[in-house]
Amino acid sequence: MSLWFTEKQTKSFGITGKVRRTLESEQTAFQQLDMLETEEFGNMLFLDGMVMTSEKDEFVYHEMIVHVPLNTHPSPKKVLVVGGGDGGTIREVLKHPAVESVMQVEIDGKVVEYSKKHLPSISSSYGDARAKLLIGDGFEHIIRSENVYDVILVDSTEPVGPAAGLFTKGFYAGIAKALKHDGIFVAQTDNPWFKSDLIKNVMKDAGEVFPITRLYTCNIPTYPSGMWTFTLGSKKYDPLEVTAENIREMDTKYYTPELHHASFVLPKFVKQLIDSK
Ligand code: SAM
Repeated sequence: MSLWFTEKQTKSFGITGKVRRTLESEQTAFQQLDMLETEEFGNMLFLDGMVMTSEKDEFVYHEMIVHVPLNTHPSPKKVLVVGGGDGGTIREVLKHPAVESVMQVEIDGKVVEYSKKHLPSISSSYGDARAKLLIGDGFEHIIRSENVYDVILVDSTEPVGPAAGLFTKGFYAGIAKALKHDGIFVAQTDNPWFKSDLIKNVMKDAGEVFPITRLYTCNIPTYPSGMWTFTLGSKKYDPLEVTAENIREMDTKYYTPELHHASFVLPKFVKQLIDSK
C-alpha cells in the first residue's frame, strides 16, 4: 500500500505526492512539524500541513528572496533574516562577499534542529562565522531594532499562528525603523491565484512606508499555484535601476542577472491586482 501526502492549498484544491517514509512528525511549541522523504522532491519540510521547502526545488525561493535585494543594495553589510529556519536563505546571503554579518531570528528551534538533520544541502551554512542565530520572535526583534540593517528578509510562514504579526502595516513600519537610511526589505508574499488579497494589502501597506515598492515573481512547483511572489520595499535603491552588466555571475541554479529584471515583469492579471485601488 503506497502512502501519499496532500497539502490543501485552498478548501477545495491541493497537491499530493508519494511518500517513501516519515522522518519526523512532532507538535512543537509553535506548530505541527513534519519531515517526509518523498519520491519526487526528496526530503520535504511541512509546517501545519503546508509545504515549506524541498530538497529538489528549494533553490528557486532561496535564490530569489536573497539575490534580488542583495544585488540591488550597493553594500549589504548587515543583513537580518526573520524566520528561515531551514537555513536556505542564510546560505544564499553568505554567497555575497560584502556581507559582514547575517542575524537570523527564528521562533522555533525545532525547525532548525530537524533541518540540520534531514536537509543538509539547505542548512549547510549554520555555524558560519558570519551567521548568528537567535531563537525568538522576529516581530519582537524588529520592534527593538533601530537603524541597524542594510537588508531585512522576511522568510516566514503564512500569516497564521506565529507569523500572523509579520504581515501588518505596523510590522513594515518597524522594518523601516530597523533599516538604515538606505535599507531594503523583501517579504515572501504568497501567490496571486489563491492569496490575491494578501498581496494587495502588503503592497499597499509597504507602499505607505517605503518610497520604492515592487512585486516580483518566480516559479516554485511545490508551492500553492506554482507562482510565488515577493514584495520589495526600498528607502533609496530601485532594483530596476541595477543593470544586468553590474550584476556579477553567481553560484546559482535559478537567479541570473537577466532574471533579476525579468522577474519584475508581471502577468496582466497580477499587474491589475496591485494597480487597482
Ligand atoms: N519558504 C517558506 C514559505 O515561503 O512559506 C518559509 C520557510 S521557513 C521554514 C518559515 C519559518 O518562519 C518557520 O521556521 C517558522 O518557525 C518561522 N516563523 C514564523 N513566525 C515567526 C516569527 N514570528 N518570528 C520568527 N520566525 C517565525
